[in-house]
Amino acid sequence: MNVQRCVIGNWKLNPATKSEAHELAQGLSGIACDAVMVGCAPSFAHLSTVSGVLAGTPIWVGAQDICAHTQSIGAYTGDVSAEQLTDLGAGFVIIGHSERRSYYREDNALLAEKMKQAFGADLSVVFCIGETKEQYQANQTLSVLDDQLSVLQAIHAPRGKLIIAYEPVWAIGTGLTPTVQEVITTHRHIKSVLASYHLEGVSVLYGGSVNEQNAAEFAQAEGVDGALVGGASLKVDTFTQIIAAFESAS
Ligand code: PEP
Repeated sequence: MNVQRCVIGNWKLNPATKSEAHELAQGLSGIACDAVMVGCAPSFAHLSTVSGVLAGTPIWVGAQDICAHTQSIGAYTGDVSAEQLTDLGAGFVIIGHSERRSYYREDNALLAEKMKQAFGADLSVVFCIGETKEQYQANQTLSVLDDQLSVLQAIHAPRGKLIIAYEPVWAIGTGLTPTVQEVITTHRHIKSVLASYHLEGVSVLYGGSVNEQNAAEFAQAEGVDGALVGGASLKVDTFTQIIAAFESAS
């Protein structure tokens, strides 16, 4: 089965202003994508601006977090619900990013609730998993991923609505990456776990210091169905080159 290839930009808490977000979105609006699904996830503050600029283009807009407790409205200070995200033009949400796992102590139980809210409102989910440097050095990568993926056992992920992003924590924003062979081996393992959960055909992206120089290598690697890109997605020029690398490998 051919899985959907995707390149998604995680803007994190960037850029500083609405006008910069507008400009970045405008730059993306002209990006050529055909075989590859291209997306970006601005902060809540910029979601409306970015989805407005990208309306009518093939670029998919998503959010970086979602309320775990309700799909609609209620007394949840600081949260943004699945229905509000949909109303703001989001089509997907990133759940389980390592920065949320570490800074906000998000655990498997909470992530499961977030996923249920997202799927309940017909949002797609980019579910991030990955090991820390200590776990990598202790050869625990696969068992860590197994534990993180086990969340999916308790969830009904509608067909075509789930994407996995394998992001080694030690590779995020550091300029370090695993070798391509390590990524191939890890993606193969992730896909076998997904198959055991009857989740064949789910795209598995690689994330962690992907840039315009290394994108082609990852794009050509077996089992790598795309990339989740942080820093390099904040410049139209570099993000375009990464997309082009995945387009030409498709
Ligand atoms: C990320 O935060 O999802 C990420 C992959 O960041 P970077 O590309 O900057 O390593």
